[in-house]
Amino acid sequence: QGAIAFKDLHFHYDPERPILKGVSFEVPAGKTVAVVGPSGAGKSTISRLLYRFYDVQKGSITIDGQDVRDVTQKSLRAAIGMVPQDTVLFNDTIAYNIRYGRPGASDAEIEQAAEVAQISHFIKDLPDGFDTKVGERGLKLSGGEKQRVAIARTVLKAPPILILDEATSALDTTTEHEIQSALDIVSKNRTTLVIAHRLSTVVGADEIIVLKGGEIAERGSHSELLAQD
Ligand code: ADP
Ligand code: ADP
Repeated sequence: QGAIAFKDLHFHYDPERPILKGVSFEVPAGKTVAVVGPSGAGKSTISRLLYRFYDVQKGSITIDGQDVRDVTQKSLRAAIGMVPQDTVLFNDTIAYNIRYGRPGASDAEIEQAAEVAQISHFIKDLPDGFDTKVGERGLKLSGGEKQRVAIARTVLKAPPILILDEATSALDTTTEHEIQSALDIVSKNRTTLVIAHRLSTVVGADEIIVLKGGEIAERGSHSELLAQD
């Protein structure tokens, strides 16, 4: 469930400057496909098009054969979970922040999700002092802890489709490995689109798409791409 087909995507923010120039690939249901490439290649734009922050100017995106333009915004956003690079949290308890993933969830379900993300010990805490509007006060939660809250939120939401947009790129190496293994658990058997800078962070993907200048430069498994270098 949740097979995604990107067909001949064309997109520009500014007509003078095309960002995607005919990009086609598929994410089979339950599989993980990673899009890697240099900064500015148009990787995040693909995830924004899937989420319909913007619409393609030519080409199409379908989920299980249905064009995303024919799906209501509400059901599209219910079907897709996103773990972004930098998670912004509400200045309320961590449990409240997790519940945001599915407002109707019970306390037991929130505790379960927190357990998967290994943050059970602080779900009742008020994340005092991390209000992003007063950044000078400094963050109480580390980047890795914030990503764990985002993961718990996604576990609770349990969407068929997952977007991991540079989800570990802001973390130090040790934390990155920890969060990566939590993400591997969450993305198992879910249709997952991973956006990443580096090939080394997407070893487990079923297919890797290398995007350069708005076009697919190479594609294959991690070992196939390494062999070409
Ligand atoms: P990547 O994720 O590969 O780093 P993006 O998809 O974020 O690349 O961006 C591709 C290009 O589009 C970049 O050059 C970026 O500056 C530009 N861009 C991204 N978002 C916008 C926007 N909202 N308006 C104008 N240009 C944008
Ligand atoms: P990230 O790649 O970390 O997700 P963004 O996608 O927000 O970051 O932005 C990627 C690039 O696109 C950045 O260089 C940013 O300055 C540029 N960009 C983002 N939004 C806009 C916008 N609305 N107008 C112009 N440039 C933008």
